[in-house]
Amino acid sequence: MELLEERIKKDGVVLPGDVLKVNSFLNHQIDPQLMMTLGQEFARLFKDAGVTRVLTAEASGIAPGIMAAYCLGVPMVFARKKKPSTVTDAVYTAEVFSYTKQVTNTISVEAKFLDANDRILVIDDFLANGEAAKGLISLAEQAGAEVVGVGVVVEKAFQGGHDWLVDHGYHLEALASIKEFADGQVIFN
Ligand code: 5GP
Repeated sequence: MELLEERIKKDGVVLPGDVLKVNSFLNHQIDPQLMMTLGQEFARLFKDAGVTRVLTAEASGIAPGIMAAYCLGVPMVFARKKKPSTVTDAVYTAEVFSYTKQVTNTISVEAKFLDANDRILVIDDFLANGEAAKGLISLAEQAGAEVVGVGVVVEKAFQGGHDWLVDHGYHLEALASIKEFADGQVIFN
C-alpha cells in the first residue's frame, strides 16, 4: 500500500534492534482515517475467505482489527495480556514472547468468543518473529476454529514470522512489507 509506505517514510523512526517506531499514527496516537483505509484494504484482500470473526491482541492490534472487522461486517475479539478478575468462565490461553518488550505474556480469550465453526482472520499491527501470530493462531485452533488468513499492517520480512506462516500454509497479507533497514532508512519489498 503506497499510502502506508509513504506514511512510514514520513513519520516512522528506525530504532536500534530493528524496531520501527510508528507511534504517531499506528500504536499510540492513532490516525482513524488511515485505520479505516487499512481496514478496507484487509476486507478487500480477504473478501473471499468467508471470515466470521477477527482475532487480534491488545493493545496495538485493536485499531486495525476493529476496522477490518467493521469493513467485513463481522465481530472482533481481542486477546488480553492480563486476565481480568471479572473473567470466571473458561478461557483459551497461549504464551507469547514479546519482541519489543522482551517479556513473555500469557494471552487469553474467553472460550465463548471463539467457536468451532468460526473462520478466523488474525490481524496484528506488526509481524516480526511471528510469536504473536502463532499465539493467536493457537487460541483459534484450541477452539477448533479455522484460521483463514493472517493480516498485518507491517511485516519485517527479514525476521522469521513471514516465512513460518507461509511455510505452514497460512494466507498472509502484509499491507507494507519491509525488506530491511539500511542506515536508518526503511527499504520496502
Ligand atoms: P512478533 O511476535 O511477530 O515477533 O512481533 C510482533 C509484535 O511485536 C507485534 O504485536 C508488535 O506489537 C511488536 N513489534 C514487533 N516488531 C515491531 C516493530 O518494529 N515496531 C513496533 N512498533 N512493534 C513491533
